[in-house]
Amino acid sequence: MAANIREEEVLTVHHWNDTLFSFTTTRDPGFRFTNGHFTMIGLEDENGKRILRAYSMVSANYQEHLEFLSIKVPDGALTSRLQKIQPGDKILVNSKSTGTLVSERLLPGKNLYLLSTGTGLAPFMSIIKDPEIYAQFDKIILTHGVRYVSELAYKDFITNEWPENEFFGDEVKQKLVYYPTVTREDFHTQGRLTDAITSGKLAEAAGCPPINVEDDRFMLCGSPSMLTDLCNILGDMGFKEGDRNGKGQYVIERAFVES
Ligand SMILES: Cc1cc2nc3c(=O)[nH]c(=O)nc-3n(C[C@H](O)[C@H](O)[C@H](O)COP(=O)(O)OP(=O)(O)OC[C@H]3O[C@@H](n4cnc5c(N)ncnc54)[C@H](O)[C@@H]3O)c2cc1C
Repeated sequence: MAANIREEEVLTVHHWNDTLFSFTTTRDPGFRFTNGHFTMIGLEDENGKRILRAYSMVSANYQEHLEFLSIKVPDGALTSRLQKIQPGDKILVNSKSTGTLVSERLLPGKNLYLLSTGTGLAPFMSIIKDPEIYAQFDKIILTHGVRYVSELAYKDFITNEWPENEFFGDEVKQKLVYYPTVTREDFHTQGRLTDAITSGKLAEAAGCPPINVEDDRFMLCGSPSMLTDLCNILGDMGFKEGDRNGKGQYVIERAFVES
């Protein structure tokens, strides 16, 4: 099926702070995706030219509406405009999705570590809502590394709302561990994710044995530098990346590209 661009209506907008917002839209029933995937979304500029960028779905594939988490880049071609959307506005959404953050690319394991920084949290929001993930792993450890506490988007949903979900709550309570960490402000967990891994702090906080190739699988989504650092650490520990050619012990997706 050829991809095409559809119009969806903005339903709600939530501004987390000066740099981050999220919004929900209507969803064409024909738009199918795998949890963890991204698609292209955007707006038309004043001249009717389409500005489209890659965005991960925060919503799960069984939900009625689409949800996205977005950065606000002050002079960004798309987000300087997108941050002003209001309920009732129209946005463009591609009918196709793709992505590497899928468990089919991972070898079986016991613990799934979802390592994110910034808007890299977005694909993991749909993954932690996926019942299949809870069937495949004993523990799912969701990390979110940010600079400021206000950037911990969905913290309340993850800690309070999702564990009380009437269908999935019991499993979420048993299996999902949330590890937010902040680098530039006081918070109960501070510091970089790389340090939390190499020091053994993350595995300990998750109640898991020290990170090892046998038991642990990783999905990574963050800045290009975060991915380089973490891939080096995992490579040194003996982990192999899963790609189009085969399954591995970790998979990665860039949360954005440096222009
Ligand atoms: C696979 C993939 C998935 C993505 N998913 C998301 C998502 O779910 N949410 C989201 O907000 N963005 C996401 N992005 C980034 C997104 O595609 C755009 O770059 C972003 O919306 C900014 O667009 P822009 O036109 O305003 O600025 P651009 O010209 O695209 O970017 C300008 C500069 O801003 C910085 N930047 C861009 N995006 C980010 C970001 N997310 N976090 C921090 N700095 C950034 C970079 O330095 C970049 O060079 C994704 C990118 C890729 C490749």
